[in-house]
Amino acid sequence: MSYSPYVLKGQVALVTGGSSGIGEGAARCLAQAGAAVVINYHSDRAAAEQIVRDIISEGGAELAEGMPRAIAIGANVAKEEEVKAMFAQTIATFGTIDILVNNAGIQQDAAFVDMTLAQWNLVMNVNLTGQFLCAREAVKEFLRRGVKPDISCAAGKIICMSSVHQVIPWAGHVNYATSKGGLEMLMKSMAQELAPQKIRINSIAPGAIETQINTAAWSTPEMKAKLLQLIPAGRVGMPEDIGKAVVWLASDDSDYVNGTTLFVDGGMTLYPGFTKGG
Ligand code: NAP
Repeated sequence: MSYSPYVLKGQVALVTGGSSGIGEGAARCLAQAGAAVVINYHSDRAAAEQIVRDIISEGGAELAEGMPRAIAIGANVAKEEEVKAMFAQTIATFGTIDILVNNAGIQQDAAFVDMTLAQWNLVMNVNLTGQFLCAREAVKEFLRRGVKPDISCAAGKIICMSSVHQVIPWAGHVNYATSKGGLEMLMKSMAQELAPQKIRINSIAPGAIETQINTAAWSTPEMKAKLLQLIPAGRVGMPEDIGKAVVWLASDDSDYVNGTTLFVDGGMTLYPGFTKGG
């Protein structure tokens, strides 16, 4: 058995929320694996454009003539028309799309009794409806194009960025945890419906990863020590820990993996409170 360094050569990947954190890590890893990459951003155009420049200057797998190695597209994933326009621009630029990393996500934290409807709706709209809207546009294109065996044995792949909080309840964050719990069933139902069409859909559930979403949890030594009590592996995760898992789930190496969640969490879901006998 041999592994190609460019397992995703000839494929086009779109990463929502690719301008920061886990999405940025995923975009960089996908590009290193040979894919052309669309970096979606919401507010931080400058960050997205810097990542595009980095990917282009790093070079890599040979691309079809005239195809850019990376581009940035602004869109709010919670807005149907913006999502449609983003996919239209992607397909106009690259001809098609092979991989969607449904990654954009936010937190709006509050004690349950103080949580406003606006906070609830915002998180649901981005974290859950946003994933539905992007997945639907990707699937339309996967079905239109079908399988191209010289590119991949799948018609398309979707990786949904979930969280350990799809299974771990989270006081003070009920909107976020509910959005990720709902995402598990969205992912599984899509995977069941679309597997016969050779579309593979899976989730990644990160544990604590050093990004802007959770700076407060790891940026002081005291907070980091507290966080590490929850992580048997003894370290906080980095975006490339997730990026490597994204590449595997996007590649034909995981062709028999459908509708599952890969926990990339340093053991956070192993009930660490029981490490010393409970
Ligand atoms: P982050 O660094 O804050 O990045 C969030 C990304 O989402 C940014 O690129 C942001 O774009 C984008 N975004 C926010 N609202 C958007 C919208 N309406 N439309 C399009 N893009 C939008 O956070 P992160 O930690 O990388 O989080 C990425 C995903 O991983 C999320 O789904 C999160 O729930 C999940 N996750 C993270 C952790 C962790 O420990 N970090 C753990 C479990 C799960 P702009 O910056 O351009 O506005």
